Amino acid sequence: MAQAKPAAAWSGELPPELNEPLYLQAVGQLDQVLPHADIDPGVAERLRYPERALSTSIPVRLDDGSVGVYPGYRVQHSSVLGPTKGGIRYDKAVTLGECAALAMWMTWKCALLRLPYGGAKGGVRCDPRSFSMGELERLTRRFTTELLPIIGPERDIPAPDMATDEQTMAWMMDTYSMQVGHAVPEIVTGKPLSVGGSVLRPEATGIGVVMVVAEAVKRMGWSLEGASCVVQGYGKVGAVAAHELGLRGARVVAVSDIAGGIHAPRRLDLAAVDAWRREHGGLEGFPDTERVSNAELLELPCDVLVLAATEEQVTGENAGRISARLVAEGANGPTTLVGDRILAERDIPVLPDILTNAGGVAVSYFEWVQDLQRFFWDRDEIRSRLHDLMTDAVNRVWTLAESEGLSFRSAALVTSIREVAEALEARGIYP
Ligand code: NAD
Repeated sequence: MAQAKPAAAWSGELPPELNEPLYLQAVGQLDQVLPHADIDPGVAERLRYPERALSTSIPVRLDDGSVGVYPGYRVQHSSVLGPTKGGIRYDKAVTLGECAALAMWMTWKCALLRLPYGGAKGGVRCDPRSFSMGELERLTRRFTTELLPIIGPERDIPAPDMATDEQTMAWMMDTYSMQVGHAVPEIVTGKPLSVGGSVLRPEATGIGVVMVVAEAVKRMGWSLEGASCVVQGYGKVGAVAAHELGLRGARVVAVSDIAGGIHAPRRLDLAAVDAWRREHGGLEGFPDTERVSNAELLELPCDVLVLAATEEQVTGENAGRISARLVAEGANGPTTLVGDRILAERDIPVLPDILTNAGGVAVSYFEWVQDLQRFFWDRDEIRSRLHDLMTDAVNRVWTLAESEGLSFRSAALVTSIREVAEALEARGIYP
């Protein structure tokens, strides 16, 4: 390829729809590591913006006969390496800028694991807890219909995220299949097994988090045996991570959900916590534990702090009081740029989201491959392939971090950006 010219740098001002805190965080991270990535400036400029975004409004007939209308988005950051891939979330805070940030992180995550995907993310701005199952189904089917022009097994493959689950994916798969006239399981991942889901997919993110933590701890010369762990966000990722930590001999001493946390200085009985949560719908009131707020939970002294709730939890305000030996980002974007800098100054290593929570998209990839070939693997095979992918990524990140004196986040980003940039340079900017 001919020597690329430097980018005709734009004003640097983001368009208003992207000028939001989470997107600024994602672009800020990119800008911070570009000097280390050593890529063509034009390619870097391309990667600062999503390729495509769809904004829609979704009318839903509610159970009381009225109609609610909810904004919905899908953002595809980069299709350089293959179809885009990323979750769908239902949350009151969903915006186009948030989806764009999460889509960019998905691009880095897929590239870091060397999956043949780019990043996407979507969601509907709503309060999912206010809906009945019927309302959720109608919302999901209409949202899927609005997405039809841009999704597809070779184009963009959704998956679950906050407040969406296997059932949501089954409705999406059915809606898409009805449009094309035959079953298309490979249109989404994170489906029920009965419609082409993969074993281990529901647990994959949480399992992957602990695979990365275990590998990191080993490389840092200590062990999870007896280590105290705090998990913020006892949901699909956090609850599985907590159990996996327990299986490796660690002591989970505190967990939380959106309403707050529970703390037992010696060890929580997680089976009892699960039973309580099933019966009472949350953690509140769990006996013989101290009730802590989410803010207090983050500051509990511990060996491993797993952030598995949501964005922007460790910030400039509280990073100075985090007393963990190691922070693992199960959630996407839980540490702000300032929070990250303070943790670095305090020598608290952070295992970054694009590495640590990549187990979910890894097994989503396995699910898609199995669907495409209509041939399914067993649990042991998937776990072993997941372990290989995660430890290979940790290895490349660790090696770069050590050789170039970078934080794990910077090393992970540089590794990913180089993968995407190399492909983009080889393909060229069209036309
Ligand atoms: P979830 O809805 O199953 O669980 C989220 C948990 O966090 C719940 O317990 C909820 O009560 C709690 N929570 C929400 N907001 C909170 C707040 N402000 N403070 C404290 N707790 C809060 O969602 P999930 O799928 O477990 O996702 C959690 C995070 O992990 C998200 O950032 C998501 O994008 C990320 N993630 C999920 C997957 C996956 O496979 N599910 C994969 C990669 C990344």
